Amino acid sequence: MKTTHGESLDCQSLGRRDFLGATLGTCIVTPFSKLLSVQLAANRSGSLTKEQRDSMTPSQIIDELKKGNERFRAGKMTSRDYLAEKRASASGQYPAAVVLGCLDSRVPAEIVFDTGIGDMFVGRVAGNVVNDDMLGSMEFACGVSGAKVVLVLGHTSCGAVKGAIDDVVLGNLTGLLARIKPATSATKFDGEKSSKNGAYVDAVARTNVMLGISEIRRRSPILDDLEKKGTIKITGAMYDLSTGNVEFVG
Ligand SMILES: [Zn+2]
Repeated sequence: MKTTHGESLDCQSLGRRDFLGATLGTCIVTPFSKLLSVQLAANRSGSLTKEQRDSMTPSQIIDELKKGNERFRAGKMTSRDYLAEKRASASGQYPAAVVLGCLDSRVPAEIVFDTGIGDMFVGRVAGNVVNDDMLGSMEFACGVSGAKVVLVLGHTSCGAVKGAIDDVVLGNLTGLLARIKPATSATKFDGEKSSKNGAYVDAVARTNVMLGISEIRRRSPILDDLEKKGTIKITGAMYDLSTGNVEFVG
């Protein structure tokens, strides 16, 4: 409800979920300058709506992901009603982002960004490598479904990166690791270049993220055009297994 002095008093938000996040626990008085973001963040139905998603810019969505990671690190994650989110999203989904993450069990994107059902697409493969199927999935996410952020999410102490450094040969894994290998030669590093050197492993993982972003732009004219038009943003990040911090790098 609106007041007369450029403010909005919202007492109906008790217990409802922010976009990608926190529950509004109190009545709030919001200047109009901040009202837009609050409206975008608010979610009465328990799942992100098309209107909410479409009214956000790619940069605003990235900011929401950063806030979600802050909540995760602070141990102040959203109290979720997954059944309500399931009901709200059953008839349609309007995710704001698509994440290409690693298979690693310690890097669940929805948790480290504190997002709910229907908030974002997540594709996971060891070493967060770009391949044709992932590209097709990302083109669906952005070109068809309307997601506005493509995020390549690498992480520290990545076993796939270690495997690529060590030239591991094992069944179908061999071909997967070959997709990471270019990151080893492209990484400038002073020091021991081995899988036992955590700093080197993380440097290669970071390079792998940056090369992944380049690969997406180069191999997907659909996503490249969407980004050039400003419709989407393609970026990258590194997740720290120890601190829980997500650092955006691209
Ligand atoms: Zn990994």
